Amino acid sequence: MHYYQTDIVFQEVPGEISLCFFICGCTLRCPGCHSWHTWREEAGMPLTEALFLAQLDRYQGSLSCVLFMGGEWHETALCHYLDLAIEKGLKTCLYTGRESVSNNLLSRLTYLKTGPWRQDLGGLDQPNTNQRFIEVTSGQCLNDHFQRKDIAV
Ligand code: SF4
Repeated sequence: MHYYQTDIVFQEVPGEISLCFFICGCTLRCPGCHSWHTWREEAGMPLTEALFLAQLDRYQGSLSCVLFMGGEWHETALCHYLDLAIEKGLKTCLYTGRESVSNNLLSRLTYLKTGPWRQDLGGLDQPNTNQRFIEVTSGQCLNDHFQRKDIAV
């Protein structure tokens, strides 16, 4: 499993400070994809357990969640990394372009974003989006956390 980059993100998982791993090798080829440079499986660098744990240790105390942008196509490896994050007391999130993922993955996820990128419908901040951001245990859709709320003055 290769990753293209890591980043600390604040908006992709509402209410959480997340360490995000961008995983290479998505095969969905959504028209207008912003991450086309990660499509090649060999792009980026191999994600090793040592590197993953070093990243978690580096941000220990600051993070509340680990986010994977893709990687469900490497289910065994992804489950292992999710287990390591859970052992560290962190929440977990997966952004997938698929409509669903296996129960194996679901049982390790706090949050899941589903659905391919559709330029005509927009992302999670759009009311008509095809994508869904759910809290896995409750099944609650949290899309409204991404949508701008105008404040009347
Ligand atoms: S699922 Fe995401 S990464 Fe994959 S092609 Fe679609 S927009 Fe790009």
